[in-house]
Amino acid sequence: MRAELVAVGTELLLGQIVDTHSAWLSRELSQLGIDVYYHTSVGDNRNRLKEVIRQAGTRSDLVIFTGGLGPTEDDLTKEAVAEVLDRKLVEHSPSIAALEAIFSERGLSIPPSNYKQAFVFEGGMVFSNPNGTAPGVAVTQDGTTYVLLPGPPTELYPMFEREVRSFLERNRQTEGVLVSKVLRFFGIGESHLVERVEDLLQNQENPTIAPLAKEGEVTLRITAKAADEATALKMIAPVREEILRRVGGYVYGEDDETLETVAIQALLKKQRKLALAESCTGGLIAEWLTSVSGASGAFKGGVVSYTNEAKENLLGVSPSLLEEHGAVSMESALAMAEGAQARFNSDLGLSVTGVAGPDPSEGKPVGTVFIGLAQKGAPTRAFNLSLAGSRQKIRIRAAKFALYILQE
Ligand code: ATP
Ligand code: MG
Repeated sequence: MRAELVAVGTELLLGQIVDTHSAWLSRELSQLGIDVYYHTSVGDNRNRLKEVIRQAGTRSDLVIFTGGLGPTEDDLTKEAVAEVLDRKLVEHSPSIAALEAIFSERGLSIPPSNYKQAFVFEGGMVFSNPNGTAPGVAVTQDGTTYVLLPGPPTELYPMFEREVRSFLERNRQTEGVLVSKVLRFFGIGESHLVERVEDLLQNQENPTIAPLAKEGEVTLRITAKAADEATALKMIAPVREEILRRVGGYVYGEDDETLETVAIQALLKKQRKLALAESCTGGLIAEWLTSVSGASGAFKGGVVSYTNEAKENLLGVSPSLLEEHGAVSMESALAMAEGAQARFNSDLGLSVTGVAGPDPSEGKPVGTVFIGLAQKGAPTRAFNLSLAGSRQKIRIRAAKFALYILQE
């Protein structure tokens, strides 16, 4: 294991104080059998601090920072690490409670500047600070663990004795391979998902769980560090089980699976063939489905029926229906789905019609989308969505929803 120490504070560079923390920490780490390769001192400057963090991440498995966890503007360590790693800082209720206790003793409420000290890395570790207002924090990303400790010696030393040393010891013992499992969710927002697994995300060390949201999908990455892959997988299994128990209904796939590969798999398994009628998605669904090799066993083809004329001529949607209900309507989605199914002689017909924006259409607000699903031997159904976002986001989200319902 390669470790390095970063002492943060302009006083160090001005020669007003000497970096005794790094000397002491180096001795402690060597007793733990952890090799220290670099000591860096950096001022309270956001850009230079970020540069140091980036460099440390590329060359070390463990980076320990001291200083810069205070309440003032120039205390930047946590914010800089969060920015470089693109990790979220979230309110930590035990730290809020600790701050409240400190300030209420003096008859004060928590000053706004101190509030930021109660923010910790989502999916990270927290070391309590009985002697001050800043908890220590740690977070692991891409095989590097970042540990952030307060500068004042009266806070740093006891915190290290109480919680940090044992954390580093455990961290060192689990050196070995990193194995990840990704759970993929659709139909649940990131904040709702995180709420349901909040307690699992707090104070996790190994395995770690990291959420990520992207275009209507959310993933949870469970990463375990162990001597070998089989052990790591064994550590991941119960965490995965617990997550599935709570929010498994929203999981559409795992690891490298995508909505389109899962949709194709589901169709192949049921031996059913699909045809598409796309309006506002303009062929996006067809493009995604055909990017999956072997799609021809499940996908017959589709039409981009963007105008009313195309809906009438290519899908047989009746002009009077379009006149009466509009092209963006439940009725039109149903007729388009049935038209696609009939024209392609397929088991399933899937349609999308909606207002992608930027302007409303037919008096319907931007983001109104109808998805139709015609199936042999079952009544045709339609789904009414109101999606948020730009034109492109609405198109992508509509296409994803359409793929999602194919899994049933
Ligand atoms: P604070 O809440 O006091 O701002 P902080 O975590 O932001 O805490 P700093 O402001 O960087 O920490 O440091 C606080 C004090 O701790 C410094 O004035 C100095 O006395 C001591 N200190 C900080 N870093 C070191 C170091 N590397 N070596 C020795 N002493 C240090
Ligand atoms: Mg400070």
